Amino acid sequence: MENPIYLDYNATTPIDSEVAQEMNLFIKSHFGNPSSSYAMGRFTKDAINLARKHVADLINANPDEIIFTSCATESNNLAILGVLKAQPGKHVITSAIEHPAVIEVCKHLESQDYKITYLPVDRTGRINLQDVEKAIRPDTALITIMHANNEVGTIQPITETAVIAKKHNINFHTDAAQSAAKIEADVSKLGVDLLTIAGHKLYAPKGIGALYLKKGINIKNIMYGASQEKGLRPGTENVINIIALGKACEIAKRDFDRNYQTMLLSRDRLIDGLKSKPGVEFEINSDLSNSLPNTISIAFNGVDAHTLASLIGNEIYISTGSACHADSIEISPVLKAMDIDLKIAAGTIRISTGRYTTSDEVDIAVEILTKTVIKLQTK
Ligand code: PLP
Repeated sequence: MENPIYLDYNATTPIDSEVAQEMNLFIKSHFGNPSSSYAMGRFTKDAINLARKHVADLINANPDEIIFTSCATESNNLAILGVLKAQPGKHVITSAIEHPAVIEVCKHLESQDYKITYLPVDRTGRINLQDVEKAIRPDTALITIMHANNEVGTIQPITETAVIAKKHNINFHTDAAQSAAKIEADVSKLGVDLLTIAGHKLYAPKGIGALYLKKGINIKNIMYGASQEKGLRPGTENVINIIALGKACEIAKRDFDRNYQTMLLSRDRLIDGLKSKPGVEFEINSDLSNSLPNTISIAFNGVDAHTLASLIGNEIYISTGSACHADSIEISPVLKAMDIDLKIAAGTIRISTGRYTTSDEVDIAVEILTKTVIKLQTK
């Protein structure tokens, strides 16, 4: 197929054309250093501040609560390490299904004598609030739980966890890299102290992220340099990517309802399409009623997901839920934590739709998947 169908929007998104237009303007005409006091510098500084407002508006924060970073990984590092540098306490609570951008920070902390509680999840990937309560210790300095999972789409009970964190006076961070712009991520409703945003998951370029830091929450910088971003993220600002993130957030807020419907309709059309095909056996790994509107973690019985992915690889872009090694299959830590049977995990692919997914693309994808899965299931 000339143009393969892109169904991997959780991996990354294309840059929105309005965003690209805005970037072009800055590439061509506005290169001033925002720290310069003359007009060129003031122009880019104002543009950054407008972008800050757009990011803040998307999550219902104040512009001065937004710190620009280079990506979600950096935002997570700054949130977790920055809180721990500023607060006493050697204990952190997280979940077993966080992205490596949180898990690996926690593993590093373990090597620095911190204790980490990795909360288990149920069969749908949700943490249990009683487990949160039980895990709290006198020295707990931070709770970090992702808003929605990248592989299975499960949405965590963030608002309820925030109530527990507040009751015990513990800082609470959420990684909203996958949720912001797909579902409502309102910091005031969620009740979080810190929240991570990733540009390239919401139609801005790669290499830009943001951290929401609630007014009054004390964190320390983890990089050293000049005073940009209140000294919490020193280094001359990535003006082009920052204005791109701002524009992308403005569009995400403006078109939220339409994009939500597109994602949901395409997700459901795909599942209904597969259900209507006799002979295709599959299971959905998450609870679709409590999941991102675009994400399907789907296991085809008796199929090796890597074989499937490679057979359809020229026609549909999707990702798999396991890593293939020389003589064994290693299932993803997320599916493992959900206690998904090895055979089911080995047949799991992730399909994630986006704002540009069309009904025609979905229908073609259903036909290709059906044909290929039936071939593999009857082998
Ligand atoms: N957090 C989550 C939930 C993600 O899905 C990702 C990327 O897939 C990240 C963090 C890391 O994003 P980046 O690689 O842009 O830093």
